[in-house]
Amino acid sequence: MLKVYNTLTRKKELFKPLHGKKVGMYTCGLTVYDYAHIGNLRTYIFEDILKRVLLVNNYIVKHVMNITDVGHLTSDADTGEDKLEKGSRREGKSAWEIAEFYTKEFKKDIARLNILEPSVWCKATGHIKEQVELIKKLEKKGFTYLTEDGAYFDSTKFKDYGRLAHLDIEGLQAGMRIDVRGKKHKTDFALWKFSPKNEKRQMEWESPWGIGFPGWHIECSAMAMKYLGESFDIHCGGIDHVPVHHTNEIAQAEAATGKKFVKYWLHGEFLTLKDEKISKSKGNSITLESLERDGFNPLAYRYLCLGTHYRKQLAFSVEALKNAESGFNGLKERVAGLLEISHGKGDAGEYEKRFLDAVNDDLNTPKGLAVLWGLLKDESVDSRKKYDAVLNFDKVLGLGLGEIK
Ligand code: AMP
Ligand code: ZN
Repeated sequence: MLKVYNTLTRKKELFKPLHGKKVGMYTCGLTVYDYAHIGNLRTYIFEDILKRVLLVNNYIVKHVMNITDVGHLTSDADTGEDKLEKGSRREGKSAWEIAEFYTKEFKKDIARLNILEPSVWCKATGHIKEQVELIKKLEKKGFTYLTEDGAYFDSTKFKDYGRLAHLDIEGLQAGMRIDVRGKKHKTDFALWKFSPKNEKRQMEWESPWGIGFPGWHIECSAMAMKYLGESFDIHCGGIDHVPVHHTNEIAQAEAATGKKFVKYWLHGEFLTLKDEKISKSKGNSITLESLERDGFNPLAYRYLCLGTHYRKQLAFSVEALKNAESGFNGLKERVAGLLEISHGKGDAGEYEKRFLDAVNDDLNTPKGLAVLWGLLKDESVDSRKKYDAVLNFDKVLGLGLGEIK
């Protein structure tokens, strides 16, 4: 029985999908204005573990991942430059070329980390119509207002606003400083932004409100509902998405449909670097490719991530990665050895059970790895049976242990 920690209730809950064995899962994808940094990739590894655990529990998973290729501004408060336009300026390429290039690079990272591909990839610029339709629905229901900057969502009209993040709305409004002219409340947010006057953006579209582009949050509500329905099972992302992005996704979707958007919200904690979160804007980002150039195996990074529970911060250092790589190499040697020698006659059933219990307990991969090591060191278990169990564990761990010769 699978249990997951639901950010919505702040509790570990028994996982019960809405429709029998079918699970709908949406994961916020990368903003493709630069390479993914290893912090981003930690979140995608955690989500991959979740999906693999669902699969070994015999669920049929429809996994949707978006690509944010427009609308994500450098500030979460609806100000600043579109990150794609920023990337375009930085590299002297068009925003469209930037999006295409970094989407490809992201997919390479996904493959190098043995992350299973989603059932559906979808990008914001490919779903403008759906986003406009959703905004029109919100407008009809009276949740929007216009400013000279764009169409905004009035968060005070949505009764449950901020429930996911346990936001102190009154406190927030009291200490209010609004940095967009005409925005009525601090927690209101842009659904559609107008292109700057007298300036043509590279990415812009016609809409009932004027030429412009969608706000960042509307893409995920629109695409998630398009592919998974108005209510679905699981939505994930990094912990930073709780107070703004996911809070706003819920408000938009639930205001439009009157239905509960998502049953389980799961969030991964941050990868940190020297006590700071790793972020592109701080310029201290490390990519998987740079680690590879330094001679590291990408799967050693995956192994490092699996050694810490996804809801705990993980402090990255080269030292920690070196240790993980030597642990991972040791693991591979032992697995290779299983094909040559044979010790005991016992079976691995008890280990299989303990492993499944660990990962079914809110994805406890550190415990799962400990069970794996325990099995490898147990000389009473028959080697062939050990090997078969290792292959089963690897369906969750995704370390390529079956490819070792
Ligand atoms: P973005 O490209 O900003 O939309 O981020 C892509 C994903 O990476 C989101 O799920 C973020 O929550 C996540 N993320 C961003 N920074 C980190 C970090 N330092 N550690 C873990 N996840 C992160
Ligand atoms: Zn999203």
